Amino acid sequence: MTERLIISAPFYIRESNTECGYCHGKKPIEQDYSLQSWSQFLQEDGDNIAFENATLGFQAESLSVEMYDKLCNIGFRRSGKFLYKTDMLRNCCRLYTIRTTSKQVRFSKELKTSVKRYKKSIRDDDVQDQKLSNSNNTTNREVDYFKEMIEGERNSNCFKCVFEPAVFTKEKYDLFVKYQENVHKDHINSEKSFKRFLCDSPFSEETIIGTQEEWDELNNWKDFKKNDRLKRLGPAHECYYYKNNLIAVAVVDILPSGISSVYFIWDPDYHKWSLGKLSALRELCITERLNLGYYYMGYYIEDCPKMAYKAKYGGELLDICRHEYIPIEKLKENVNLEKLFTFQNESSEVFSEQHLNDKLKGPPTLMDSKSNARNTADSVYGPEGTAVINANAAARKLSDLGIPYEVTQDRSIYGNHSETSTAKDYRNFPNVFPGLVPLPEILEMVEKGKLNMLNYGLLFYDTKLGNIRPMSNFEKESSHIKKLVCDIVRCIGLHNTIDALIII
Ligand SMILES: [Zn+2]
Repeated sequence: MTERLIISAPFYIRESNTECGYCHGKKPIEQDYSLQSWSQFLQEDGDNIAFENATLGFQAESLSVEMYDKLCNIGFRRSGKFLYKTDMLRNCCRLYTIRTTSKQVRFSKELKTSVKRYKKSIRDDDVQDQKLSNSNNTTNREVDYFKEMIEGERNSNCFKCVFEPAVFTKEKYDLFVKYQENVHKDHINSEKSFKRFLCDSPFSEETIIGTQEEWDELNNWKDFKKNDRLKRLGPAHECYYYKNNLIAVAVVDILPSGISSVYFIWDPDYHKWSLGKLSALRELCITERLNLGYYYMGYYIEDCPKMAYKAKYGGELLDICRHEYIPIEKLKENVNLEKLFTFQNESSEVFSEQHLNDKLKGPPTLMDSKSNARNTADSVYGPEGTAVINANAAARKLSDLGIPYEVTQDRSIYGNHSETSTAKDYRNFPNVFPGLVPLPEILEMVEKGKLNMLNYGLLFYDTKLGNIRPMSNFEKESSHIKKLVCDIVRCIGLHNTIDALIII
């Protein structure tokens, strides 16, 4: 049973955009619209529209690192045990999954300066001034800044970084409070919130704690061999010590396809070290040395300075509807990244939501540099788009088949200020949600009996009855359970649902 995917039923949370941690509801209305076509269509209603923070999520009680890797690559992120992705059509900000590699980084003057300053800062007091580069007169262009960083660390006795299990210590907590209070002006912190946010995870106890051998191997990443495979996968805290004082903690998840950055806290007394920039460079470097593939930086948000800096490290953004990464350089040429984008081959006759389920079986592809695909988000998800019409037609048929999806007649995707804030139904999420398996595809799967593939693999834990039972026959389940199964398949794909246990 260990490592089985154990999750709650998914829920959909809508709250005012003033709750958005990125824009705080303060950006110009024009930027809130996910598509240009919606802002034109709703021009006259502008003042009445209540923009929202719209998130889909579920609580994960158990998860393997392999499964989390897959979920990250379909746009999910975790905060403690909560897994979520935003509704890219309705949310006030567009959150794109971003990944990069050390080879894609272009060292700007700013990053070069940070490395130089860092190397100088961690130099032992008794070492004479020496030039950054070796004495063989390398020009700036040829300097390997990753190598410089590693060398600086190797030669330092006063500075060290140590990976360790992602567990609570008083020392880390004190640093967290200092960081939150000084950097984020957040004065409401508790040990409980620290644990929930930066220590808790849905991974098994063995995965979290690991073995000494695994940690030793990880901590010797500088000497890792080209063809070696890292044994240690799972969450980790990398603690930065200067003169034996903890000055920063990087919270990361080490996954089969790369290192995912979760959070980074640092001592404000060391703000001159640019530790945030350095930690990203270090993690990129570690990812490469450990032959791990990609460095996942979380979400990229074009119109949020706090998140837009990530593009400085190069890389790719995930087209969630196509399960494909696209180089940022290519996107910046012709796509407004404040808006929703999704690509489709120009040869397609009608632009509509693409089939996604089979693609979710494997890792995302990388867009071919010669691809003739173009951004079709407005044609698919705009007010004149095909997605809503097709999804409603599918919802009607599913409802006829006893799976209660509701047809939404309203052509507007946004809430209205005049609406009374009645309790919202957290179990119902929209018929059109970019990046979920489209409803017409779900209908097709139901009609072809494909959901029976889940029979005897998928389990339900009924909290009221206190028992666990398998789904023995999808066709014979109640309408409520059928809808729940369809919703989960929409979220993570049929293949990833096969051995799941759903808490109901
Ligand atoms: Zn926002």
